[in-house]
Parts: sequence; C-alpha cells; structure tokens
Amino acid sequence: MVPLDDALAHVLAGCEPLEPVHVPATGAMGLVLAEDVVAAEAIPPFVNTAMDGYAVRAEDVAGAPVTLPVVAEVAAGHPATQALGPGEAMRIFTGAPLPDGADAVVMVERTERLDGGGSVRIDVAVEPGTHLREVGEDLKPGEVVLGAGDEITPARVGVLASLGVAEVLAYPRPRVGVMSTGDELVSGPGSLQPGQIRDSNRPTLLAMVAEAGFIPVDLGWVPDDEEAIQDAIERGVAGCDAVISSGGVSMGDIDLVRVVLDEIGDMRWMQVAIRPAKPLAFGVVPGPDPDRPIPVFGLPGNPVSSMVSFALFARAGLRQMAGHPPERLHLPRFRAVAAEPFRRPPDGKVQFVRVTVTAGGGPGGELAVRSSGGQGSHQLGAMARADGLVVLPDGDGVDAGDLVEVLLLAEPPTIGHAP
Ligand code: AMP
Ligand code: MG
Repeated sequence: MVPLDDALAHVLAGCEPLEPVHVPATGAMGLVLAEDVVAAEAIPPFVNTAMDGYAVRAEDVAGAPVTLPVVAEVAAGHPATQALGPGEAMRIFTGAPLPDGADAVVMVERTERLDGGGSVRIDVAVEPGTHLREVGEDLKPGEVVLGAGDEITPARVGVLASLGVAEVLAYPRPRVGVMSTGDELVSGPGSLQPGQIRDSNRPTLLAMVAEAGFIPVDLGWVPDDEEAIQDAIERGVAGCDAVISSGGVSMGDIDLVRVVLDEIGDMRWMQVAIRPAKPLAFGVVPGPDPDRPIPVFGLPGNPVSSMVSFALFARAGLRQMAGHPPERLHLPRFRAVAAEPFRRPPDGKVQFVRVTVTAGGGPGGELAVRSSGGQGSHQLGAMARADGLVVLPDGDGVDAGDLVEVLLLAEPPTIGHAP
C-alpha cells in the first residue's frame, strides 16, 4: 500500500499550474493571482470626513459652546470652492473632501443650526484630525495590497476596483472533464433492468468540480469497452486541462480503464493506505500541447470512494493547477470533540469517517462530531448527510470525548443565527 502522503505528492508532481492569463478584475472572483498587485494610488485619495457635521478649525471651537457662521456646504463629490476662513464653519457630509483651512469635523449630533441656517452652535471642542480619514490611511502607494497566490475574494475585487485596477494576471480555472465507466450504469428515471444501477458518480463529480471553482466538462458515460474508453479519454484530453474517470481502477479483470490508460499515458496504479478510496490511478497523458501533459485521475467506482478520492487528491491537484499555494491545497482541517466513540481495527490505513458537525456540541462549547450513518463505501446516504470527515489514524480509534481532526466537506455549521 502507498502511504497517503506519497500518493498526494505523486499527484501534485503531475499537476503543474496552468499558464496565467490577463483577466478583467471584475470577473476574477475565485481565481488565484499570478503576480502581486501594488497600489499605484493612495486610498483614501484625499482627506475626507467620516461623519456628517461641520468642518471647523479646532482652535475656533476650543471654547465650546461657540457659534460660527456657516459659509458653505460640502458634499461627497462636490469639494468646497473656497477655503475655510478663521472663525467659520462649513456644513459637511460623509465622504466629502475636507476644505482647505479646516482641520477637524464636529459631528452633527453635537451641534445646533441657528438663524435659519446662517450659523451653527458647536457644543464640543475637538482635537485637530477629529473624524477625518487621512490620505493613504487604508492603502499607500507602493504597498503590495494583494500577493501572488492570493485567491480573489469579494473584498479583493473591491480593493482592485478602489485602486482602478482593470485587469489582473491570474491562473485560469482548470477545465475538468468527467466520465463514468461501467456496463451496469444508466442515467435518469425509468425502471432499471436486472443488474443496472444509476450513474451517480458523474453528476456528483461534476458538481464537486463546480463547487471547487473549476469548469466541469461532461464527457459522458462509457461502457466497459476499450475503444469507447479510449475515445472518451481522447476527447477529454483534447478539450480539457485535466480528466477524471470513475470506475474500472480496482483489481478486477474487466478494469479496462487501466488497459487503455497504460497504453496512452504514464500512469501509476496505487492502493493508497486509506479507507475508503483505496484504489487510485494517477498519471499524465500527452495533450495537444507537447509541453503540457494532461493529468488524468482514475477514481474508484464506489460512490463514497470516488467522492473521498476527489476531495483528497483531485481537488488538491486541480487547486495546484489553479495556482493555489501548497498550504491552501487541501480541505479545511479543524479539531472537534468526538460525541461518540469511533472504533476501528488497526489495518495500516488512515480512515475517513463521514460525520455531522454540531457547533457548540462539545462539553466546553467546542464543535462536536458524530457518525452520519452507514460507513460503507457504497453508502452515499451517509455521505450526503455528512459535514466532514473525521481522520482516524491507524490504530483502534478514539473514545467519546477525545479530540479528533476533521476535514470540512460542507459549509461550517454556525453557532446560532446571523443577525
Ligand atoms: P468499479 O470501480 O468499476 O469496479 O466499481 C466499483 C463499484 O462502484 C461497483 O459497485 C460499481 O457498480 C459502482 N460504480 C461504478 N461507477 C459508478 C457510478 N458512476 N455511479 C454509481 N456507482 C458506480
Ligand atoms: Mg466498473
């Protein structure tokens, strides 16, 4: 058996990052930057007010309460056309540039407008700088605001927009072809003939590809037939950055995926020391670009195994192709309290137990995990209920109350409700 880390290292060695491309910053959500973004401008670009109120000279309101004439109004986008003179005030609205001559803002709540608007009583003294947003307080010119390897999030889209950056150099989303193999498979409704089952892996894997932010390409169902398998793989290799097949990689004698891939690619057929998802084929096949062989993942056919294998291996390899740095390739991992014992026999494998995660379910309010149901590699029901996978290292398992490591599959559970 191949240790998990060795299998992962082998996969990652075959998944080169794609060639970065220039993309519009507004469409870059979820992509990974291939170069640093340096601020060319200061944000804020000018001193402005954080509050609605009155622009003043701090020295003029030192003896508050004081009454000052209101000489102008300054709103966001409408700078003052005159400087603020000694002993004067200007009405000012959030985001408006501070007028020359002023050095502080008094919030409107600490003032009273008098004389039909001609003057204002200022009830508090303020220090110079009060309620001002200084130039460059957020971002300074020359500052590296986003780094190569950073994923573009909504906040980062905002940072790029605030700096006027129209294009970024980023890794494209890998196009990932998915095919399923097996004579027993059918799709859609309708009654099943004896021995038939419905193809669940292909839609599942296409969905996992999409969830991970890649572009799913449906290569269809393929019967257990050498020519058909070869044809599907060739279509995938011609039009995709990576290809995933499910089924036909175990030790069975009709595992024709193996026959075909060994003929056209440089594959390694592994029995990984994990459960589920022990069989894994990975390798590269020549693609249209001689410098860029296409990674091919042969995932096991059992539905839970194919999902776990995708989550552990394919997702990491594809994330590397999408430019993610080594520390961000894998599923989020955290600790939780086992709400029940997780028993297992020592067998040289790392086990991944499908669990539900309860926020605040531990004795000290920690996250707690319990089995989500039947743990067979064909039991997709428990996988569908699972929020995570408990990592059980080789041994005989853990007791209730022990801390365990959990790989997060679904959105994390929340403590209570969002406001
Ligand atoms: P295989 O890896 O082809 O030997 O398949 C192992 C098990 O997974 C068998 O029970 C198959 O029927 C099942 N299986 C294979 N492919 C799929 C699929 N696409 N959807 C659901 N079950 C599958
Ligand atoms: Mg099969």
